[in-house]
Amino acid sequence: AEMFGQLTSGLEAAWTKLKGEDVMTKENIAEPMKDIRRALLEADVSLPVVRRFVQSVSDQAVGMGVIRGVKPDQQLVKIVHDELVKVMGGEVSEIQFAKSGPTVILLAGLQGVGKTTVCAKLAYYLKKQGKSCMLIAGDVYRPAAIDQLVILGEKIGVPVYTAGTEVKPADIAKQGLKEAKMNNVDVVIMDTAGRLQVDKGMMDELKDVKRFLNPTETLLVVDAMTGQEAASLVTAFSVEIGITGAILTKLDGDSRGGAALSVKEVSGKPIKLVGRGERMEDLEPFYPNRMAGRILG
Ligand code: GDP
Repeated sequence: AEMFGQLTSGLEAAWTKLKGEDVMTKENIAEPMKDIRRALLEADVSLPVVRRFVQSVSDQAVGMGVIRGVKPDQQLVKIVHDELVKVMGGEVSEIQFAKSGPTVILLAGLQGVGKTTVCAKLAYYLKKQGKSCMLIAGDVYRPAAIDQLVILGEKIGVPVYTAGTEVKPADIAKQGLKEAKMNNVDVVIMDTAGRLQVDKGMMDELKDVKRFLNPTETLLVVDAMTGQEAASLVTAFSVEIGITGAILTKLDGDSRGGAALSVKEVSGKPIKLVGRGERMEDLEPFYPNRMAGRILG
């Protein structure tokens, strides 16, 4: 299935109804606005975001009047495009680097979202930009995750600090960071343990790790397939441990778009990067503008 396929065709239905009109009025946009609302809800966009989106588009549409050479259906496409960009945060939000010493990036997230994979992908991405990286394996509840990280590290030529599963994550963080400083690496990325659901144990552990690492970036890895649930998670982690942004994975699957469109508005935190596949190359910055283009087909 084409990513956002359903959202794309749902939105298309809206402008089709304006064909042949000379100007957008409160009356003739009523049906198109219903189409837009329905398309967003079906894409699992969070309800408050849908409400605000539809209101804003509708206000702009009615206020637009006649524009020579631009038909109402094209006007509506443009308004929706710009509103999509806005809802996704407008500008691309880059990874920040520390002014001195290593930049520390802490990754958090529930089990199975792709956190361990992202850890290696991110190192690969930064390495290509000329940064030396080191990974810290902190998923102490899943020995397989540590092995997986070591294998990925070898594959991309990035060292991985491991201390097994018997050491507390906060101590692993402390020792790993020390090692990174000794080796003068530019960026340290720490993988942490996820759980099936948000629980106090995970949050406390992350708070401990965060205290020791004092990270420049604390990024929550969320699965695009979970739709608006991804946005609620970003809010929860933001409130509990403080995060600087999100990484949205599995955008190559048949994600309906709800996560991409809800995270920023619901949580106030930007999506910084997106994963769109299992290969190391499959991580890229989140460009609201390109994403809007893709949604509009
Ligand atoms: P973790 O439990 O969060 O550490 O998750 P893993 O990194 O082990 O990933 C879980 C599964 O999702 C693995 O099979 C990964 O290959 C897969 N995965 C991770 N990111 C992506 C992605 O962007 N797209 C796809 N299709 N699969 C992914």
